[in-house]
Amino acid sequence: MKINLHSHTTRCGHASGTEKEFVEEALRIGMTDFGFSDHTPMTFPETYKSGIRMKLEEMQDYTDTVLGLRKEYEGKINIYLGLEVEYYPALFDSYIKFMSDYPLEYMILGQHSLNNEYDGVWPGEPTEDVSRLKRYVEQVIEGLSTGKFIYLAHPDLMNYVGDEATYLKEMEKLCGYAYDHKIPLEINLLGIGEGRFYPNPVFWKLAGEVGNDVVMALDAHHVRMIDVPDAEEKAMKMVKDFGLHLIETPLPKMK
Ligand SMILES: [Zn+2]
Ligand SMILES: [Zn+2]
Repeated sequence: MKINLHSHTTRCGHASGTEKEFVEEALRIGMTDFGFSDHTPMTFPETYKSGIRMKLEEMQDYTDTVLGLRKEYEGKINIYLGLEVEYYPALFDSYIKFMSDYPLEYMILGQHSLNNEYDGVWPGEPTEDVSRLKRYVEQVIEGLSTGKFIYLAHPDLMNYVGDEATYLKEMEKLCGYAYDHKIPLEINLLGIGEGRFYPNPVFWKLAGEVGNDVVMALDAHHVRMIDVPDAEEKAMKMVKDFGLHLIETPLPKMK
C-alpha cells in the first residue's frame, strides 16, 4: 500500500502516538502519500458533548501540525490535510462554513451516527430494525450527494443483523449511487485487523456485483496500525474472492 488517506490523531480522544511517529512509520514501509483525516470537529449545540472527535478550537493546531510535517518531509512523502466527517443534516452547513477557514484538502465520509448524533444512534450496534438500515442508507446517499467527499469510509459500518434480502435491497441503493457517481468505497483495514464485524463479506460481494470502485485504507489510530501486512493480505483476498474493482486512492489536490 503506497497511499493512505485515513488516519487519526490523539485529538479525537481514542488514538495514540504523535503525527510525526505516524509519518515516520509510513515512510519506513515505503508509502508515498499519507493523509490525516481525524474525526472532524462539529458545531454541535452547547448542550451536547461528542466523545469521539476533536474540539473546534483544536482545528488550528491540527492544521498547523499536519502542514508543518508536510514541509518537514517534503520530497520524502506527501502529507495531506483532511478530515473524516459525518453527514449530519441539521449541522452540515454550519460545520462546512467553519471548515472553510482552514486549508483542508479533502474529506472522507464516515457515518458514525444516524441523524445528528445528539439525536441518533451508532450504526455499528447490531440491530434488526429495518428503519435504522434505511436511515443509514438514505443519510449516506444524501451525504455523498453534497459532492464534498472523495470516498466513503467503511460503508458497511451499518450492522443490520436481520434478513439478508432486506440488507441487500437497501445496500444496493447505496452501492448503486456510489457507482453512478464514481465514488469509491473503502475496505477498512482497521476493521480487519481488529476482527470487527466489518468488512462485511455480504456487503463486499454485492459491491463486486455492482462493480464499485474500491479503495483500501488503514484508519490508523495508533502507530502499530500502519504496518499491517496481514490485514492487507486479507483485504486482497476479499478483492479477489468478490471480483472487486480495486483502484488507487484518488489523491487530494495540495493547497
Ligand atoms: Zn476513530
Ligand atoms: Zn476513521
